[in-house]
Amino acid sequence: MAVFDLSDLSWCDTHCHLDACEFRDELVSVVKRSRAAGVREWIIPAVATSAFERVLDIVTQHAGASFALGIHPLYVGSAKRSHIEQLEQWIKRHRSDKRLVAVGEIGLDLYPGHPPFEQQQWFFEQQLRLAKRYELPVIVHARRAADQVYAGLKRFQIRSGVIHAFNGSEQQALALIGQGMLLGFGGSLTYEGSRRIRRLAASLPLHTMLLETDSPDIRPRWFSGDLNRPNEPSELAAIAACLAQLRAVSLASLSEAFAENLTRLKSSL
Ligand SMILES: [Zn+2]
Repeated sequence: MAVFDLSDLSWCDTHCHLDACEFRDELVSVVKRSRAAGVREWIIPAVATSAFERVLDIVTQHAGASFALGIHPLYVGSAKRSHIEQLEQWIKRHRSDKRLVAVGEIGLDLYPGHPPFEQQQWFFEQQLRLAKRYELPVIVHARRAADQVYAGLKRFQIRSGVIHAFNGSEQQALALIGQGMLLGFGGSLTYEGSRRIRRLAASLPLHTMLLETDSPDIRPRWFSGDLNRPNEPSELAAIAACLAQLRAVSLASLSEAFAENLTRLKSSL
């Protein structure tokens, strides 16, 4: 009897911060482990203009990696308005590079204590305007802000992108899908306590979803007790296995569906 090997299937980690300092001395082994687990593609969204060079370096050094350029809502406190012009210069320069897949990571995070809403909203809207102008999809961080993100996407007529680590309601999920967004799922679905996320991950149509690890964050359930260990892209294969179980489908069918969704996202450039 053939032994089923997870690494026979191919996956893309559609949201991982391989430029994070946690990976600085480890990147070669992290990528090696990822490939060995069948996770052979990665999308690396930058979080600040100061990260753009590093992200581009990583993409150049590792076949299978692509990137997004943006200013993350939790980094707008240290961003200047001129960073929007810098971002636009970078987008212009790399517009014809197939590895540039989106404007991101952009978004809104209404968790208390984070940068003021008006400041976040200004950067979010400026970046939506750039996505529209250069016809790029968006990669969006939406924490306690799914409605506000939806309103922004609608106002700027953005019809392609990913809401990463989706954690809203079913109604919000359907509205964002209706606006053309894919919803990213990852480590959160491995926790039995994440009832709403698990229910959505099990029931939404597969063509509306993508898988991601958000490495080095959103550690899967089996990391508990190992508090200093950063999450990494190789974990995506086990997260996919967890999703296959929730949906009672084969891993092969998941791998195929997510590859199609990724192609659709990339071809909307
Ligand atoms: Zn992120």
